[in-house]
Amino acid sequence: MLLQNKKIAIVGGGPGGLTLARLLQLKGADVKVYERDENRNVRLQGATLDLHYESGLKAIETAGLMDAFKANYRPDNDRYRVMDENGNVFHDDHAKESTGAFGDEFFRPEIDRGPLRDILLDALKPETIVWDSHIVSLENKNDIWEITFKNGNVAIADIVIGADGANSKIRPFVTPIKPIYSGATYLVCNIPDAEKNALKLHNLTKGGKITAMANSKNLFLSAKGDGSLDFYIGWKVAENWAIGSGIDFKDNKQVLEWFKKEFADWNSMWLELFDYDQTHFVVRPLYGMPLDQYWETQSNITLLGDAAHLLPPNGEGVNSAMLDALFLNENLTNGKFADIKEAISDYEKQMFKRFTVEGKETAEMMDWMYSPNGLKTMVALFHQMPD
Ligand SMILES: Cc1cc2nc3c(=O)[nH]c(=O)nc-3n(C[C@H](O)[C@H](O)[C@H](O)COP(=O)(O)OP(=O)(O)OC[C@H]3O[C@@H](n4cnc5c(N)ncnc54)[C@H](O)[C@@H]3O)c2cc1C
Repeated sequence: MLLQNKKIAIVGGGPGGLTLARLLQLKGADVKVYERDENRNVRLQGATLDLHYESGLKAIETAGLMDAFKANYRPDNDRYRVMDENGNVFHDDHAKESTGAFGDEFFRPEIDRGPLRDILLDALKPETIVWDSHIVSLENKNDIWEITFKNGNVAIADIVIGADGANSKIRPFVTPIKPIYSGATYLVCNIPDAEKNALKLHNLTKGGKITAMANSKNLFLSAKGDGSLDFYIGWKVAENWAIGSGIDFKDNKQVLEWFKKEFADWNSMWLELFDYDQTHFVVRPLYGMPLDQYWETQSNITLLGDAAHLLPPNGEGVNSAMLDALFLNENLTNGKFADIKEAISDYEKQMFKRFTVEGKETAEMMDWMYSPNGLKTMVALFHQMPD
């Protein structure tokens, strides 16, 4: 086996890194995951996500975690409502009988990120995750990687896999190619106990998701299992808008004033999003890697997930990261490659191909979502889908 007596360091304990760690451990590999979070509870995990039959769910199945997934997924949270700026409903999944079942390729069950992360963490051998490991530098010494962390710890590994997301510290050791701004930005926010703090919008969301679209602007609402409501405000704006805006994003009154101006033609029903005054807004300019990106394979380092092929949110990110984990694990453990470099090279080749297709689709999606025809196109897409 290629990985015999090899120490593997996965940097980043997101869905991609954790899936790979689990899959490699099932094959007996020696794996550590170095994660910058101080512990598993330190950070509020983001909104719900849907796993897809041919990628995320396939990885969960291969990892032997389908029972745990079924015990934790959120039935009916995949129900969408599509609206205009006045709350007029143009598409409503709640009107349908059923949202499908496992084994149906169009069934995309939703799970909160926290429980998904817990399932993957609980499946790893004790001591696999090394928390509080914020990597600051990496050095190759005679084909052994020396990894240095902010807390002063140093680890060594034969193979490094960068699964450390959009701002990967591992990526520069693989390629100098940098992400490009997509032209759109999200303001991201979470309202705890939405039934108390945003009752009307909580009721409107009905435990599922809302996309409201008008005049090249979008609002996304998503009900989480803990009773909170995640929302993103998406619009086209300059990359460094936040810096020059003068807004204190910890003060929701200032954000409300901005929203009233920027979304002036939107119904006042949405203003309830700003009623709860403890919320902190996070500004997230959306980036993507260039679609023609390419790098020469190295023999002992590679990337997966957002670190490899970041794109603006397209509903595929977690699924793509988990699919990378599936393919990389397969190549490193199936005995079909002469050496690790060959296994990585084939993995990267397939990954570039998938990225080009997904990247083109995402670019098209960004064009129509942030155009005056966004709502019309979205509704047409929903109507093309099988029930
Ligand atoms: C607002 C928003 C909404 C989204 N919605 C969806 C959705 O609905 N569905 C979907 O599939 N995708 C969605 N995505 C995309 C999705 O979040 C990512 O594609 C996915 O999380 C990538 O997984 P990953 O494992 O590659 O990286 P990440 O999930 O980013 O995980 C990286 C991990 O590395 C750790 N890390 C980072 N830097 C370091 C360091 N220096 N040292 C050590 N550890 C480090 C981080 O703490 C993190 O745990 C969304 C993205 C955004 C921004």
